[in-house]
Amino acid sequence: MSTPKISVLRLGHRPARDKRISTHVCLTARAFGASEVLVSTKDPGLERTVNDVVLRFGGDFNIRTGVKWRRTIQDFKGTSVHLTMYGEKLDDVLPKLAGVEDLLIVVGAEKVPGDVYKHVNFNVGVGNQPHSEVAALAVFLDRLQGGSELEKEFNGELTVVPTANGKRMLEAGHKESPAKPI
Ligand code: SAM
Repeated sequence: MSTPKISVLRLGHRPARDKRISTHVCLTARAFGASEVLVSTKDPGLERTVNDVVLRFGGDFNIRTGVKWRRTIQDFKGTSVHLTMYGEKLDDVLPKLAGVEDLLIVVGAEKVPGDVYKHVNFNVGVGNQPHSEVAALAVFLDRLQGGSELEKEFNGELTVVPTANGKRMLEAGHKESPAKPI
């Protein structure tokens, strides 16, 4: 399956309470092949944190916060998927996403407004047990792309060199550092 352009829409972010988990939604979106994350609540701190990771670790990834989520879903021209424990089985929906060029993936925080379920093309359960938006997003993106996202080159200032034991980083323009103990 060719990989679509993937946007992730994070609903219901409360800057004081959800700082850590929303950061993880954004970083998971980036690391697992999405090209942008849209967050329904304005949060310059979240933008700074994510942009700082992009600056250091590379890749083309954008974050926008304070987006009008209803309009974003309604105006979206591609295919939209809402991840929810109440949705259809992932295995039943994945074949229907073959050949999709633009994909919007919606994840919630607390209760998701009822009209989200009506306005998206698919409501998809990653299993039908309650768990987490981070887990749901990671599993969905991995299954969608068959694991190829983990081979993506980010070409950042910093690259981690896979190491059996210790920590080895490559800085752009510098020699590889020797493995350091963790
Ligand atoms: N009962 C809540 C609800 O209204 O959906 C669960 C909220 S859960 C803490 C936060 C988000 O995680 C959900 O909005 C959904 O996007 C995602 N999520 C949790 N479990 C899921 C599952 N089994 N499949 C897909 N997404 C899930």
